[in-house]
Amino acid sequence: MTELEPVQADGGLASSAAPLRAEKPSLAGATREGVGAALADIGTPQREIRMRSAQLWHWIYHRGASSFDEMLNVGKGLRGALKERFSLARPEVVSEQISRDGTRKWLIRLAPVDGRDRGAEIECVYIPEADRGTLCVSSQVGCTLTCSFCHTGTQKFVRNLTTAEIVGQLLVARERLGDFPGRAPPADGVVPGEGARFISNVVFMGMGEPLYNLGHVADAIGAMSDGEGLSLSRRRITVSTAGVVPRLPELGERTGAMLAISLHAVRDELRDRLVPLNRKYPIADLLAACRAYPGASNARRITFEYVMLKGVNDSPAEARELVRLLKGLPAKINLIPFNPWPGSPYECSDDATIGRFSQIVFDAGYASPVRTPRGRDILAACGQLKSETEKLRARALLAAD
Ligand code: SAH
Repeated sequence: MTELEPVQADGGLASSAAPLRAEKPSLAGATREGVGAALADIGTPQREIRMRSAQLWHWIYHRGASSFDEMLNVGKGLRGALKERFSLARPEVVSEQISRDGTRKWLIRLAPVDGRDRGAEIECVYIPEADRGTLCVSSQVGCTLTCSFCHTGTQKFVRNLTTAEIVGQLLVARERLGDFPGRAPPADGVVPGEGARFISNVVFMGMGEPLYNLGHVADAIGAMSDGEGLSLSRRRITVSTAGVVPRLPELGERTGAMLAISLHAVRDELRDRLVPLNRKYPIADLLAACRAYPGASNARRITFEYVMLKGVNDSPAEARELVRLLKGLPAKINLIPFNPWPGSPYECSDDATIGRFSQIVFDAGYASPVRTPRGRDILAACGQLKSETEKLRARALLAAD
């Protein structure tokens, strides 16, 4: 594997929307109910709330408005009242890195949630492909799961993201890509060329375990898929989980999103080591929950992710066992070449081994299963995300010493 030089690494980027500073609550990222409640708060008559909510919704999510002044069909008085109490600030982009393959990674700083919060950071990745543009979003700062091959797993869990912080990642990405109709693209950025795909898909495969933040994830999916706003089809939103079995039915019922399962091993003894959550919810329970997943069908298959770790889980016998385990399930298999990170204890399986594994899976009727690593040069690939928050803290402590 060759590591490429990033073509751009910008350390001091400021988002064109004003950075979020806890004083006024922001409506960028609010749910429909949240927008309605904000209007009620400033005394909007009940009979107007539906209509006004729809107007605000359109401006915030369809037009990407970053100030209330732009909302010319909203009366001046109401705009003034909104401005006094609320903002449209989005999370602040502190750096943007662009890989040689076009993948981008944004480091996003979140506003403090309370007096003790020192400010948290998350990462979010945009992956352009010929037929789609995928945004990989985070659901938590850090993670509680400690999967042994995942960089985020080495970072301490800090907190769940709010609904607005999850939706905010899509707003920030659209803004940086120049993807709001009628708005000028950012003057300090690079936007995709003519005919390029903007964001057609969202995957919850960034930092965190989405099912441990299901309420906010479900509300965020509601806002992202609302046809009068960001308008992403729920079938183009995928939630990836390490397998929080008791929350799978609720995920299916509340969101209608596509499901991806981080399987990675076919024996409990090995999966216990790779994905420690397996000790709580072993493979048989996980697959039983998948068989019962609401809405799964041949047209809406469940994706099983399988990271290829050299000499650990990549034998032909394991490929055959994988196929046997998934028999009868409407499944797709995604083989993910392991993406290394500084100090990682595993190596990626070699090409011939991945080829052999994939052939066995293919012969059993599953098509093109190897995921091309994207953005490895900027540590943007699966499992490489880890914000600098911890390092910054360590530096601050050293300085204090
Ligand atoms: N917690 C969720 C979502 C985050 S990870 C989950 O476990 O599914 C998204 C995907 O990247 C998961 O399949 C995860 O197992 C995989 N992954 C993590 N670290 C990786 C690495 N270093 N190389 C390749 N894939 C990795």
